[in-house]
Amino acid sequence: MDSLKPFMDRFKAGVFDILAHSMSGESSIRHWYRQLSILLKEHFNVEETFYLYKDGVHLYQYDESLNKQEPLELPIMKDFHHEPYQVLKEDQLFLKQGDLLIPCYEKTDLMGFIVIRPLPGAMWAQDEVMVSVLACDTAVLYQNVRKMLITAEERKRYHELFDVTKAFNSHMNVTQVLAKIILSLKNTFSHYTFTLILSDDQGVEKGLPIEYLDYQSDNEALLHAFVSSEVTIDDQGSETIMYSPLKGKQGVYGLLKTEGKTDKALKKHEIEFIKVLSTTAGHALENAKLYMQSRQLINDLKLINDLSHELNANLNMKDMMSVLTVQIQKALAPDETGFIWVDQDQWQIVEGSTPFFKTEAGRVYIENVKQQLLEGTDSVYMSDCELEAGYRSLIAVPMIHHDQLKGFCIVLHRDSYAFSFEMYKLFKSIVHHSALALVNAMLRVEMEEMINRDHMTGLYARLYLDQFVEASMAKDQHGVFILIDIDDFKQVNDTHGHQVGDQVIIQVSKHLMSYENEASVAARWGGEELAIYFSNMSLHEGIALTENLRESVLHVTDPQVTISCGVSSWSEEDPDQMISLVRRADIALYKAKNTGKNRVVWLKRESDQIMRS
Ligand code: GH3
Ligand code: MG
Ligand code: MG
Repeated sequence: MDSLKPFMDRFKAGVFDILAHSMSGESSIRHWYRQLSILLKEHFNVEETFYLYKDGVHLYQYDESLNKQEPLELPIMKDFHHEPYQVLKEDQLFLKQGDLLIPCYEKTDLMGFIVIRPLPGAMWAQDEVMVSVLACDTAVLYQNVRKMLITAEERKRYHELFDVTKAFNSHMNVTQVLAKIILSLKNTFSHYTFTLILSDDQGVEKGLPIEYLDYQSDNEALLHAFVSSEVTIDDQGSETIMYSPLKGKQGVYGLLKTEGKTDKALKKHEIEFIKVLSTTAGHALENAKLYMQSRQLINDLKLINDLSHELNANLNMKDMMSVLTVQIQKALAPDETGFIWVDQDQWQIVEGSTPFFKTEAGRVYIENVKQQLLEGTDSVYMSDCELEAGYRSLIAVPMIHHDQLKGFCIVLHRDSYAFSFEMYKLFKSIVHHSALALVNAMLRVEMEEMINRDHMTGLYARLYLDQFVEASMAKDQHGVFILIDIDDFKQVNDTHGHQVGDQVIIQVSKHLMSYENEASVAARWGGEELAIYFSNMSLHEGIALTENLRESVLHVTDPQVTISCGVSSWSEEDPDQMISLVRRADIALYKAKNTGKNRVVWLKRESDQIMRS
């Protein structure tokens, strides 16, 4: 025993060196084995050492020169009963009788064996105490080195985690966070490849290993991981793929795919680490999404707020439409924008709508939407519609006032899926916020029309004509004013009754309206007297037109009546006042009555000369 003391001292010193070296954290079990092997071979009577490591249920021989090995079929494995060491009683494969077999553990898990083959006649191999000390020290050394390696590995992982968390907390930029995560994973697991599979384009810039989720894919493991939001491992023979969900608080934003050779199977703590990082990635994506959403929401609210302010600034219908069109263009960039208004079951296209809606194809879209809204649909949102003019995306939102459908706003785009759900919500919001202002403007237009029109005949009221003539005198070159009185109308009343009298006034009025153009206004002057004013018309043209009117009235009235007309005019060279223009027409009419009725009389201004046809 004494002669073996130097051997033991040298061995312990060597063990101490190895331990000290492995504390630096830059070691591995294989490295440790090499050192142990050198220690034993150089200084002691050891012929050979082997490192048999366990992977799964199989035992392999560690050999630096070999990449892949066949599992070992060692009978010793069958009758191994956790003894601290064993001396082989007979040869097994490349192991020989007398080889010392030392089991190595991590906690209670068997990790492999160190095999020491003594040189023939080695003294220590004869000494049971020495063998036992060597076996125990080697096993303890293994355990400690292993522990230190694990600690070093953990330290490295925590360091990476710390870096990722730091990046996560200091960047709003999702690409930078994801890049840091991928880098950390590569640093920690160099033998795996990592890919981010995102559920949609989430504003991540190029340069990262990114794929997009194919919902039609028949990859069950992938879909399972996404749907169940659980880590799913797909064992594909020589390769193992792990899918870990990129999970935030509100949902799953994709998957982290980890691929590696099956013989380097992922260990529990590695899976945990990857899970933590994929969850961090999920949170980063979620934060970026929420940030984008909140910015979008702020923009939307600002848009709605600006719009409400503008619409409530006492704009007329035309200005309102142009404000609304600008905002809709800004928010949705549609190809076509339409405002359709319901007026006593008539659907009219409001000015400001794009011309497409006035075409036959445009009407198809209007009819389609109208039908759906009348059936009670609260809005129409189509991303791939198949109506004939080839507009694929459509949104239509009704304008409702006092529970009544007043009309709708419609936007179209040639591309399918051109309007996102967010855009749809925004459009709804725009229409809802502008509906009241629009309805009010429309009602104001209707009310003004009502005030300006004579109820019975539909002709303009006298006040409106007055304003029209005055405006024309201020801006036009000339104009003609015609006063019309139905001849012997009292007799019509007396003969046929008041109701028939009314009908005759209406017939003459409708006839008068047919002479109206954009530059003229026809009005009921009072009783059975009517008037019409043509801006930018010469007296000569006016007389001819009045003659025509007088002649044709017989054919449109039942009972037939005739009319007498007084005509007056003004021109730039001969400016006039409304009051004298009317007075002269009145004098002319009076003359027409006094000279036999059913005639046209005009009064020139220069000489106040009365002329008649
Ligand atoms: P003259 O050829 O000179 O114009 O004779 P006249 O009978 O047409 O003229 P007068 O002024 O004597 O009578 C006009 C009548 O028109 C008197 C009035 O009762 C009637 N009248 C005025 N407004 C209406 C109306 O809205 N409906 C009906 N049915 N009659 C009306
Ligand atoms: Mg009269
Ligand atoms: Mg009359």
